[in-house]
Amino acid sequence: MTNKNVTEFKAKLEEKISKEEAKKAIQIILKYIGENPSREGLLETPKRVIKAFDEYFSGYTEDPHEYLEKTFGDVEGYDDMVIQKNISVQSHCEHHMAPILGIAHVAYIPSEKVVGLSKLARVVASYARRLQTQERLTMQIANAISKGLKAQGAAVSIDATHQCMTTRGVMKENATTITNYFTGSFRDNPSLQQRFLTYINQQK
Ligand SMILES: [Zn+2]
Repeated sequence: MTNKNVTEFKAKLEEKISKEEAKKAIQIILKYIGENPSREGLLETPKRVIKAFDEYFSGYTEDPHEYLEKTFGDVEGYDDMVIQKNISVQSHCEHHMAPILGIAHVAYIPSEKVVGLSKLARVVASYARRLQTQERLTMQIANAISKGLKAQGAAVSIDATHQCMTTRGVMKENATTITNYFTGSFRDNPSLQQRFLTYINQQK
């Protein structure tokens, strides 16, 4: 670790909130919404909420780049598009902490290395399990795959519903949001973008 990293690491440890403190915060929110945190049905709720948060936001304890470290070089020169469709996305918006639910489609064009297929879904999940905007999530996945695999290019498309829009606020329950992000050869070549979009929009 460099000195800068050690300082940042120590600062993080000091900032770290204990589970007990976090549970108290949930009790306060229960009171705020008009509930009685002492009634039987709610006694264990703060503990369960924090456990659920640990899952929803597990991305903060992961480094997505680690999933891209183990690669396979022996692919006999395969250098066309690898596409993984319909990867489920469970995230939370950073503005309301409301669920963002949808699917991601991920593609890359290898230069010399390919990665195990399950790892693409792991990269999606580790960025999704944080507070996000859909735009940033889309870019982060594409950039990680692009750089981590030294790929010729990467493409990511996400189609998701934001519960802060569907269950509150403007209440548009059928609204979905689509974001696309392209790097490298995809960015420079509209026909590659078109191929990707055609594949992901094809029915099975
Ligand atoms: Zn929101």
